[in-house]
Amino acid sequence: AHLDRIDAVDRSVRAFLHVDGERALAAADAVDAKRAAGEPLGPLAGVPLAIKDIFCLTGAPTTAGSRILEGWHPPYNATVTQRVLDADLVVLGKTNLDEFAMGSSTENSGYFTTHNPWNLDRIPGGSGGGSAAALAAFEAPLALGTDTGGSIRQPASVTGTVGVKPTYGCTSRYGVIAMASSLDQPGPCGRTVLDTALLHQVIAGWDPMDSTSVDAPVPDVVGAARVADVRGLRLGVVKELSGEGYAPGVEQRFREALDALADQGAEIVEVSCPNFRYALGAYYLIMPSEVSSNLARFDAMRYGLRVGDDGAHSAEEVMALTRDAGFGAEVKRRIIIGTYALSSGYYDAYYGSAQKARTLIARDFENAFENVDVLVSPSTPTTAFRIGERADDPLAMYAADLCTIPSNMAGNAAGSFPCGLAPEDDLPVGFQVMAPVLADDRVYRVGAALE
Ligand code: GLN
Repeated sequence: AHLDRIDAVDRSVRAFLHVDGERALAAADAVDAKRAAGEPLGPLAGVPLAIKDIFCLTGAPTTAGSRILEGWHPPYNATVTQRVLDADLVVLGKTNLDEFAMGSSTENSGYFTTHNPWNLDRIPGGSGGGSAAALAAFEAPLALGTDTGGSIRQPASVTGTVGVKPTYGCTSRYGVIAMASSLDQPGPCGRTVLDTALLHQVIAGWDPMDSTSVDAPVPDVVGAARVADVRGLRLGVVKELSGEGYAPGVEQRFREALDALADQGAEIVEVSCPNFRYALGAYYLIMPSEVSSNLARFDAMRYGLRVGDDGAHSAEEVMALTRDAGFGAEVKRRIIIGTYALSSGYYDAYYGSAQKARTLIARDFENAFENVDVLVSPSTPTTAFRIGERADDPLAMYAADLCTIPSNMAGNAAGSFPCGLAPEDDLPVGFQVMAPVLADDRVYRVGAALE
């Protein structure tokens, strides 16, 4: 049924870079055969899944949305990919994203732009716009994403779906093509809170292959999603994440959701996180610094595209020609910013200051969590903007992640949950819940109460 749905709508939504129907049907048959033979089945046996094309999956291309990886087939599975296969989920295909997960609209994809199923003229968010659009268009019931600055939560917000960034270190980055390693975190995407929690439980947990993996028990996210009880929970509304630049319909639906939670017994207080105002600026120094280093591996020798390998060019020229042809404008912009920020003489002024700001942001969270159980805000300041509207304005594009970036900087868990449609444009609004490190269950507890 999902393959039929993809056939029917993906020509206009364009959520998928790659669909492998044969593989999906064979996997579904294998689940049936196991069931018939009375063999034990994985926890989500037979449930179809869309995978953001940044997770390595053998037997299929992995592009990270970049032309530089066109035609590359990974030789191994990411840990998260392996876990979904072991849980007997059925992989439908790989979804579109901004190149190397850099963007908020999928317009930076090296292949094509994905459309928002609520209104095809609008962006589906980014970078994981393909996964979110696949969910919203009923092409898949579950999807995988990665969140470096909001790439799970912002697409969830603008497509009326659910997306959670787990605590940093709780889902393995092994086999996930790196953008900014100190911020990247794989996570689950779904249409309901419980579905999302079920996928979270499958993918989370310690992995010896990831040096920043946290060896701690996975919080009971499924239990929290089932209970949906916010009685006595203290919710801190972040004062700095509202006001100028926030659409009236976003503010309105956010406030209504707060009222609904208060009616269910949550206590609402206002909290100030004064250093959040530095989050966007610090992110756009730390992230490109890590990008410039991580993307050095695309050297025309190891993976994918190779340009100018005709005997007339030196290895260095082949490298330069390939990177010029294979990387898009946003990727180049970030490599240049990162290289500049890390260069000697500028390191302390830029990268060093950004790291200090990062520490202050983490302290804002710690201070806040002494008085409240979770922090809440809109997930993104506006609803889905028009395709093309911010394409030539990187700063306007970057502002889409104003509310989501602080949690990447501090590493805590955060999720986006639908809270209605903005009256001015009938487009989905997202409600963000931020929980302390390793308290991912609280994100689901509040999200489920909103549903
Ligand atoms: N939109 C943000 C960026 O462009 C976040 C990306 C992400 O989370 N992968 O960097």
